[in-house]
Amino acid sequence: MTQGPQEAHSGTASVLGLDLGGTSIKWVTLVDGQVIRKGRVPTPDTGVDDVLRALAGVAAEVPEARAIGVAAAGALDPVAGRLLVVPNIAGDWATRAVGAELAEATGRPVHLANDARAFAYGQLRHGEAAGAADAIFVTLGTGIGGAIASDGELRMGRARRGGEIGHMPVEPLDGRKCGCGSIGCLETIAGGRALSELGADLVRTGAAPALAAAVGGRPDAVEPADVVRLADVEPACGRLVARAGHALGVALASLTNALAPEVIVVGGGVAAGLPAFRPYIDEIMSRYTVLVETPRIATAMDGYAGAVGAAAWAADPPAGYPAPIRAGRR
Ligand SMILES: [Zn+2]
Repeated sequence: MTQGPQEAHSGTASVLGLDLGGTSIKWVTLVDGQVIRKGRVPTPDTGVDDVLRALAGVAAEVPEARAIGVAAAGALDPVAGRLLVVPNIAGDWATRAVGAELAEATGRPVHLANDARAFAYGQLRHGEAAGAADAIFVTLGTGIGGAIASDGELRMGRARRGGEIGHMPVEPLDGRKCGCGSIGCLETIAGGRALSELGADLVRTGAAPALAAAVGGRPDAVEPADVVRLADVEPACGRLVARAGHALGVALASLTNALAPEVIVVGGGVAAGLPAFRPYIDEIMSRYTVLVETPRIATAMDGYAGAVGAAAWAADPPAGYPAPIRAGRR
């Protein structure tokens, strides 16, 4: 496929970012770092074909975009243009040439990126870390993702799989089991799913009457925000928030000692609870970051931040990242 006339003018042309989430596909178009259009459609739960059709359907509504970035949770192979594991969307993803199929369906080059790394790239280019040379990014959602920038560039490490902050061990000996197979990973204590599950246990055992009342006695109805909101009035919830905050503090202090970032940017659906975690994070940070400067901690609460990052990726991918997938490449 030859380069279209629009692709030659990469600076000012529109690009499309698609953030493929478990419940919705959020999208934005970006021109020169500015969001021009945005929207969301439900993520089909009826298999890979329907998800790809939904993604291509958005692209068809945005014919002005010269390139497409797709951010998805899990592991991916950007060279082959394949999503290897998509933990939040059922389907046999690894067998599909997602990049090539989307490039063929849309007629435009497709960049695949991990969602946490895409969030980070958007924040590095156009958000809270703009202008920073060294930064750490954390996405607090159902799980916990992350990314690292140094010298103004994203650093993804070997096979571009690095940045898995959620799987740093913080309770390795007696912690909870993680979806990754290990024990005591950060996200088993501070992730949204963990807070829901731990809160549900409190409701079941009668250890948190105020929480039980808030969810009508239904353990399965506990949301992370319920646990955070009741931390001051329900001691058992307060202990969960303290444990999560300390765990986040341990992970962030360890990263800060290793990398000396200027800023730590926290986003994701559970980031609204950050003020409740902050005293515990700050306590650990101040105790354990003695030889390096304490970084600023910023929040990025825009729900479209992942889509903005995917679009920024499509506009100008991180240094050294593989070329986008074009039609005909399987
Ligand atoms: Zn893990």
